[in-house]
Amino acid sequence: MQKRTVAFSKDSSNLFFHILTKCNLKCRHCYINREEHGETTLSMDTIERWLSLFADRARETNLIFLGGEPTLHPDLSLAVKEAGRLGFKSITIDTNGFLFHDILDRITPEEVDFISFSLDGATPSTNDAIRGKGCYDACVSGVKQAVAKGFSTSMIYTVSGDNIHELDRMPAMVKELGIDRFFIQVVGIRGESADENGQLQVTREKWLETVPGVAEEVARAGITVTYPKVFLNPGEAFQCAGLVADNYFVFPNGRVYRCPICEDHAVHGLTIVDDRLVPTTTLNETALFNLDIPEGCVMNKLVQPGNITYRADGTPEHRIACCMLKEEVLPG
Ligand code: SF4
Ligand code: SF4
Repeated sequence: MQKRTVAFSKDSSNLFFHILTKCNLKCRHCYINREEHGETTLSMDTIERWLSLFADRARETNLIFLGGEPTLHPDLSLAVKEAGRLGFKSITIDTNGFLFHDILDRITPEEVDFISFSLDGATPSTNDAIRGKGCYDACVSGVKQAVAKGFSTSMIYTVSGDNIHELDRMPAMVKELGIDRFFIQVVGIRGESADENGQLQVTREKWLETVPGVAEEVARAGITVTYPKVFLNPGEAFQCAGLVADNYFVFPNGRVYRCPICEDHAVHGLTIVDDRLVPTTTLNETALFNLDIPEGCVMNKLVQPGNITYRADGTPEHRIACCMLKEEVLPG
């Protein structure tokens, strides 16, 4: 088994493309904020034009189709084919598992690298309390259909105070389902979660006593696992992906963020105007990335400080890593 921290690089890019915000679910921690991100469903024509904005670097860019629920878009299969024509390094569809518009019949396993399923509990009761009644069964059924048709699949488990107690049941489950990659995510306090006053965030102790061990168990089952670092160890260097990596979180209203924690606010660093990426001129996230604070990530401190603890003298006990900094555990 090999464990490594995935270093940021300007040489590779990630394009998180929200092609619509509409969704059939109302998850408790949904990060989509329609007041900020609008209710537009992009036309196929616009999707093509916006993908072409990134075409020059397509071969170094991992493309992730997101929503809302991207399979609700009737032209998702055409968008996948267009992305393939442009030569993106990898193409992933993130889905809640309902797989609308017969998406698995309209694309082939060769046209996408991963269909990625979101499940937030190892049991229907825990998952459905977060994601809604019937979601567990729909997701598991969706995974089985995708695996049976020969698609590579991944699963995302967003850890929060509501479901960390079931994470240790996931290694057996992902193995049985035939999942190829497992992503442990940490809940972000934005969208619907912003109303919960930090109750969803888990402590450093709970995180460390649960997540790395589960990741190793999944890797022992032959499955690559990725999870966010969250808490830096003493002496570990802090880096802000907004400064040293190349990530684009594109929303259908044209906002383009470089940092996902900023998404609840109109601080996007770029906007798509007339099919061009234009830097935003008002105060925006780019100015915040340079702030050097003892707590590490400045947006974590501003938006979701429930995971920071302080010593009696007021200094933070640990710095919070960039939310994009990941640990990867490889089998073998
Ligand atoms: S988290 Fe995803 S699946 Fe859940 S309501 Fe939000 S967009 Fe839909
Ligand atoms: S999460 Fe924090 S460190 Fe990472 S890009 Fe955003 S502001 Fe920068």
